Amino acid sequence: MKPASRAVHAGRELEARSPLAPDLSPAAVHVYTDLDDYDAVVRGERPGHYYGRNSNSNRDMLERAVADLEGADAGVATASGMAALHAAILALAPKPVTIVATRELYGGTAALLRLDLEPMGYEILFVDLTDLDAASRAIHTAGLVIAETITNPLCGVPDIEAIATICRERGVPLLVDNTFATPMLCRPLQLGATVVMHSATKYLGGHSDLVAGVIVGEAATMAAALKRSARTGTTLGPFDAWLALRGLRTLDVRMLRHSDNSLALARAMRSMRGVSRVHHPLLESSPSYAVAHRLLAHGSGGMMAFDLDGGRDAVQRMMERFRLVTFAASLGGVETTISYPEITSHRSMSPEERKALGVGAGTVRVSIGIEDAGDIIADFEQAISR
Ligand code: PLP
Repeated sequence: MKPASRAVHAGRELEARSPLAPDLSPAAVHVYTDLDDYDAVVRGERPGHYYGRNSNSNRDMLERAVADLEGADAGVATASGMAALHAAILALAPKPVTIVATRELYGGTAALLRLDLEPMGYEILFVDLTDLDAASRAIHTAGLVIAETITNPLCGVPDIEAIATICRERGVPLLVDNTFATPMLCRPLQLGATVVMHSATKYLGGHSDLVAGVIVGEAATMAAALKRSARTGTTLGPFDAWLALRGLRTLDVRMLRHSDNSLALARAMRSMRGVSRVHHPLLESSPSYAVAHRLLAHGSGGMMAFDLDGGRDAVQRMMERFRLVTFAASLGGVETTISYPEITSHRSMSPEERKALGVGAGTVRVSIGIEDAGDIIADFEQAISR
């Protein structure tokens, strides 16, 4: 089946009399009448569930579905994207190593690396992974590489395929945060990545009504990650898993609409007075255009950013004039929202670090929704021009 069909059906096998929509199973624990049977289930020799922190049918369905879409053996669904990232890092590098991470990294990931892993002995090197020479030099010393398919917030696109080749030659695992692109637009495992992670809070869920994370990869790595996630109690609860699977069913149509709308807004913004720069991977002016065109052939999703003349005051005035767009420090929902990296995703960085990335006082990140493109453009136009 093609990805659009798999998004609708993956993770479940229907039989006669199966409920068409999955039942929600909130049970914390399952009962048993036979000790050998219980023992076999716990050892993984027989299918079944026994305790909610270890496994749950709703979580299983979500894990199978995301693994299927990303082309992986297996997956682990966690209580948030950050829990997924943590589980993935410790599965791939259980002992301190040098971690090479993309310089323009989601601020929460940068904070996890610096505040939690660095004190444990990991060495963290932030490198511009869109610069393949710099990436190649840094990977030489690495025990793990962390990249994002589309960077946050300026939407650069590193050549994951080339980075994966360098990693493979040096025997270094590559962890890719595919939150912005989703498997509908890019499948990093097919490009050579070792593990893919998602904040399912964003596009996979798609409706801004759950917090969840998923990692996918080969079976042994996922088994280790699941054990650690169960031990540390970061596995995902049943209702959020149920909601995330429900969101996943419409992922393909949403990503196509997000992609069309974001490109339409980015193009329109180029001629809006007061906008000094527009960051969108598929604008010809993007430094990542050639790579994005190759790796994101069906669209780049709903993320873009722009720089507004007049800094924070101008951003505040624009926000007060919005009629449809709202400010919200997340992304990937059906509604168009903006966020302000200086105090949201990148607040843990110093002003100098943000400046080095190109994130300034006028930088606004946009998560374009699935509303009518004309309505979205008109709202930005009136809010900025007035
Ligand atoms: N990765 C990216 C690219 C994100 O944008 C986020 C959250 O904004 C995360 C990871 C963390 O996900 P969560 O908030 O679900 O823990």
